[in-house]
Amino acid sequence: MNHFIAVDIGGTQIRTACYSEEKNIPTTIKRISTQGHNSTPLERLIHVLESIWPEGNVAGVGVAAPGPLDPYQGIVIEAPNIAGWVNLPLQHHLEEHFHVPVALGNDANLAALGEWKYGAGRGFHHLIYITVSTGIGGGVIIDDRLLLGERGLAAELGHVTILPDGPICSCGQPGHVEALASGPALARWAQCEVQNGAASILPIGKELTAKDIGEAAKQGDALAISALARAGYYLGLALSNYLQIFNPSAVIFGGGVSQTGQFLFEPMKASLCEHVMSPDYLKNLTITTAALGDEVGLMGALALAHTLI
Ligand SMILES: [Zn+2]
Repeated sequence: MNHFIAVDIGGTQIRTACYSEEKNIPTTIKRISTQGHNSTPLERLIHVLESIWPEGNVAGVGVAAPGPLDPYQGIVIEAPNIAGWVNLPLQHHLEEHFHVPVALGNDANLAALGEWKYGAGRGFHHLIYITVSTGIGGGVIIDDRLLLGERGLAAELGHVTILPDGPICSCGQPGHVEALASGPALARWAQCEVQNGAASILPIGKELTAKDIGEAAKQGDALAISALARAGYYLGLALSNYLQIFNPSAVIFGGGVSQTGQFLFEPMKASLCEHVMSPDYLKNLTITTAALGDEVGLMGALALAHTLI
């Protein structure tokens, strides 16, 4: 029997799971913290993989990792929150240790692959996945294939310029959609407005989160509703650009900020309709939310492992 192993590496947790044949329900699943006192993250990863390694043949290991990475060479270029993971040849280390094929992918790209194969994107040949949380990331599937680009750096959907004179993004450039519509960006805007005297139930002097804004919006707070509408407006503007470039049949939203629902989505759709160059892009377009939740990293890594046979 063939087995596949999926690995989802984050700054705080490493999740691993083993699957049999084509099944997408794991036979074993195990998670550990990424950081430990007496071992490096790589040693911890190898150790947890040994502990779930099945009897029989392992056909492939798929690994979702954060940050910029080279999916062709299997090298983590720089993993945020994992000290020492700079130009780490992770694929080579794992192949040398376990003697099976290993493939590596960026977590946002693999989330797109996971939703396409197992989640809200099933049956679509062209889709865009966007995650809106502390940052904005994503992945693009065109003709049933994940778009990677020359260096594997494609589909940085959060880093498109929407306002050239706008706030500085986490990447250092001004006015990217991430700096306008991510959770911290919209919370920061609301906080500024409250401090400048805008009427709101949101507290002054407390660091706000997107969740606080979402809850205040549900209670009818006009400022919180405006903060989400503003983020939705910029997201819709960005989305009009993506539609014109990729012409997808589905757009799938993941991430915590997407759970604020209509307060974000209605203004986003209005902005999209206002900015898109032709209504043809909206015909048969499905806009929906992600289906896989916390499992999306593992499912994406599993989909990648299946490409190894
Ligand atoms: Zn940026």
